[in-house]
Amino acid sequence: MDEIDLRVDESCEVNVACEIYENYKISMGSESFYKLMGDNTLYGLNKLIYEDDRSKFESLVKEAQIGNKIVVRLLVRNNKYRWVVMRLVAANAGFEHTTYKLMISDIIDENEKYLDQDFEIRKYKLYMDLSDEKLFKYDFESHIFTIYYYAYGRVEVLEKSKLEIFENNVISNAYLAPDEEENFHKLISDIRSGLDSFSSTITNSILSKGEWCETQVFRGRTMYEAGEKKLVIGTIISRNSVQKNEKLLFNEEVDMDAFTGILNKKAVTEDIKAEIFKAKQEGNMKPKYLIIIDIDNFKSVNDSYGHHFGDEVILALATELKRSIGNKGITGRIGGDEFICLLNDYESIEEVRNFLKTFRKKLKSAFAKEKPNYEFSVSIGVSEFPKDANSYDSLFKIADSCLYIAKEKGKDRYIIYVKEIHGDLIDDNTKNSKTYLTGDFMKSFDKAAMMVDMLKKLDNSGLDDLRLVIEEFLDRMNIHGMLICNERNKKNIRAFGHYPKDDFKLETLFDEDYLKIFDEYGCNSINNINSLALDYPTVYKTMKDMNICSSYQILMGEKGRRYLICFDIFGEYKRKWNKSDEICIYTFMNIIHFMFNLDDI
Ligand code: GH3
Ligand code: MG
Repeated sequence: MDEIDLRVDESCEVNVACEIYENYKISMGSESFYKLMGDNTLYGLNKLIYEDDRSKFESLVKEAQIGNKIVVRLLVRNNKYRWVVMRLVAANAGFEHTTYKLMISDIIDENEKYLDQDFEIRKYKLYMDLSDEKLFKYDFESHIFTIYYYAYGRVEVLEKSKLEIFENNVISNAYLAPDEEENFHKLISDIRSGLDSFSSTITNSILSKGEWCETQVFRGRTMYEAGEKKLVIGTIISRNSVQKNEKLLFNEEVDMDAFTGILNKKAVTEDIKAEIFKAKQEGNMKPKYLIIIDIDNFKSVNDSYGHHFGDEVILALATELKRSIGNKGITGRIGGDEFICLLNDYESIEEVRNFLKTFRKKLKSAFAKEKPNYEFSVSIGVSEFPKDANSYDSLFKIADSCLYIAKEKGKDRYIIYVKEIHGDLIDDNTKNSKTYLTGDFMKSFDKAAMMVDMLKKLDNSGLDDLRLVIEEFLDRMNIHGMLICNERNKKNIRAFGHYPKDDFKLETLFDEDYLKIFDEYGCNSINNINSLALDYPTVYKTMKDMNICSSYQILMGEKGRRYLICFDIFGEYKRKWNKSDEICIYTFMNIIHFMFNLDDI
């Protein structure tokens, strides 16, 4: 075997370039190349590679991956082999032949250089791993635009396409927030023209492919080689982290909630106050709606599915709020799972209702797909400027109390404030006081008209319609739940409304002593269940466990086959049943009992 010469020949530099054809014949080389190789350049370059290394070399050419490098033994002048690093730096398709440009350098020099570089690259990759910054690059030769990031030491590519195609996709898929098109086209033009350095802030959903919007700062620089533009490289940083950094650098106040990217409590409160102040100053009395939203049972979402999923729920909610309200209002996060919005460009409460319905439905179905066992729900309170109040504090207090009522009524609903129904909620002590709500929000005569209306609906209708009619009745009478219990199996046979899901001891309600206090019509009106605590402790406990504070109950049917029907109010807002409520419920229930079999409902 030929001797391998590892001595460095000072007279012979090993940092040379050459070009070969696909058949490995040398087409040309730098002066230093010919000096290094001596007379050997008449052979194909593959023949000059030590036999064991030859296939490695041939693959380097065949694969034609620019930038690939190999370490081989090369036969140089004086028939000596030298360990060299060969790097493929270009492949040019000509008329007849493709030529390949190779850089050949000494392994010892290279090794040191590479060790250094490798360390730098490893350090950089590790840093990128720790950061969640995304990177982008644009290659002027191939026109390919790539967005990528490092995760666990690997490059993850998020986008790779011709710049023009990327641009068209973003527009046609509507990945840009309103009014961002101009900014986006400017960014693309900065990249394409290879501006030395540039920066654009754009609100978009490019990285999540339309799932959620983020405000991101794109910063880029152009890299040159031999005066020629080679590559644009840049970073994409989401606005939250920019804000964080700016805060560190300039100690400025931060307006964004770092996690969701929407306004934080301080900023959103200031913005809403300013909006209300402006409207009052201008005498603009167009309605504005203050909305407070709280995710239901969020603690158990975290407990059952983990904080990571909890975070996902918060982010999805914030993003959907921001997306659907857009520039028709102000949106912010005021607590862990609590959000606020001021809708200032909605024409009527009907439009607000529609917004709330679609918003809830959309998130429900999104999560139903992702986690079939999780039932996403929120409770919402709404107040209206200037109808309900004309200051931020009062509007907030009303909406917050409505949210509280929504929670008490069994969650998963919105309550729009109606003074006649909910009373005066601005009073500070409302939440904890033992206030009684009266049912006189509907005149007696209107209640009778409503009954007639429902009777008409029930005529010739089936059970499905009956259920809808019952739901409507409860809603209009502002009753939170209705439970039909059967004496024979002592179980509830039908429940409307959000009763807690546990198995309650309903048999206790059929306590004969207790049933004795029902009047001659079989009715018992309970304004405050505390009144039962002393004489009927088990009945009291059952109702308390069911979160009932007031109830109107009717006993129907023959002894042994009786039904107990409970019309319940949940939470702390007790209901003072008035005569017209009682007559209304009594009549309604008797008609149903007459027309249908209660076991079938
Ligand atoms: P309710 O239906 O009455 O609203 O009950 P809830 O369980 O939602 O209770 P509450 O609103 O009082 O609790 C909010 C919980 O949200 C408390 C905290 O554990 C959790 N939380 C707050 N911020 C975050 C967050 O950024 N991420 C996650 N995953 N959880 C959070
Ligand atoms: Mg909550």
